Amino acid sequence: MNIYFVIIVSLLLAQFLFKVVIEMANLLNLSETLPTLFANDYPTDKYRRSQKYEKESTLLDLAESTFFMLILFALILTGSFNFIDSYARSFGLGIIPTGLIFFGIIFLAATILRIPFEIYSTFVIEEKYGFNRTTIQIFISDLFKQIIVISIIGSMALAAVIWLFEEFGPHAWLYCWISLVFYQLIICYIAPNWIMPLFNKFSPLPEGTLKEALNAYAKEQNFALQGIYTMDGSKRSTKANAFFTGFGRYRRVILFDTLIENYSVEELVTILAHEIGHYKKRHTIKLIALSIFNTGLMLYLFSWFLNNPQLFKAFGMENISSYASLLFFSFLYMPVQTILLIMHNAISRHFEYEADHYAATTYHKPDMMISALKKLTVDNLSNLTPHPWKVAVSYTHPTVIQRIKVLQQIE
Ligand SMILES: [Zn+2]
Repeated sequence: MNIYFVIIVSLLLAQFLFKVVIEMANLLNLSETLPTLFANDYPTDKYRRSQKYEKESTLLDLAESTFFMLILFALILTGSFNFIDSYARSFGLGIIPTGLIFFGIIFLAATILRIPFEIYSTFVIEEKYGFNRTTIQIFISDLFKQIIVISIIGSMALAAVIWLFEEFGPHAWLYCWISLVFYQLIICYIAPNWIMPLFNKFSPLPEGTLKEALNAYAKEQNFALQGIYTMDGSKRSTKANAFFTGFGRYRRVILFDTLIENYSVEELVTILAHEIGHYKKRHTIKLIALSIFNTGLMLYLFSWFLNNPQLFKAFGMENISSYASLLFFSFLYMPVQTILLIMHNAISRHFEYEADHYAATTYHKPDMMISALKKLTVDNLSNLTPHPWKVAVSYTHPTVIQRIKVLQQIE
């Protein structure tokens, strides 16, 4: 028995069970009693609806995970990765195009297999709860645009990684790291201007009382207002949101049009204040630094397993290559990735508290922040009582009740 085969199969099963346990704990944590904090904000029937929504979304997510785990087991047990590799090699091209074909096939197959789940999520679940605004045309054009964007960005990075590892062997990880960091920074820099407009329309804020109020607050905080945009989020969903993106000259605070339509001027100023808080506390830069560290760790660990014959044997491969090493290493890397994700989310939740604090102490209206948070929660049918394990593993924001309790102390 090949030891890597045993390790990888165990890791896949463990990862899957880990997810099932957390999701089940989360569903069992849905309580009939409405938390007192929301007594006046969540009508009972709407609260029930939010719980049904959480349940249905979770079940779909679990069905998708089960399906993909079964596919993966089938691929491993039937030696299909060797089949895909032989096909990629049959073109007789160099190592880089062969690697791109190998990954291209896997990426396309995974994308196609995911479509039914996305259709169900968008046109059945989101539709049923009144969130969906995506038309079939938008759905299809999004799909093609995503495939094109990911193919371009991914194949350039992949080509560089394959070339460096072929050229410099296990020592290439450092060169790879430096190149990928530069590449990642360029993508972060250009995304708000070049990539995001492919999917949404961004426009400067229209003239009026809202712009005046935001302008007054932004001026007070020395934040350039030309960085505030509205986005046509209503094109796909009625859910409202706001976020901060990019850095340097291209930094932007994005407010969804659905947010602007339904929230008072004061609530919108506190939302803007929260986003400016992320900028002032340098959260974007800090999260980029963390991701740079993660990339370095991954590449360093990868160099240990580059072209490992036993690892290739576990997948029934006839030929050894740096590109297939990358794929097989990604299975071994799963537990490290999960630990890093939990750490990343903990840091992100800490940043959210900091941004809330910034907003509440610079705009001096924590009650407006609380009412905006409550409204966002009810409008988006967010889960009020996620299980702490679920929060640790997948929440980038603290739960709304945790945030409100902290804000009430500032009041
Ligand atoms: Zn935030």
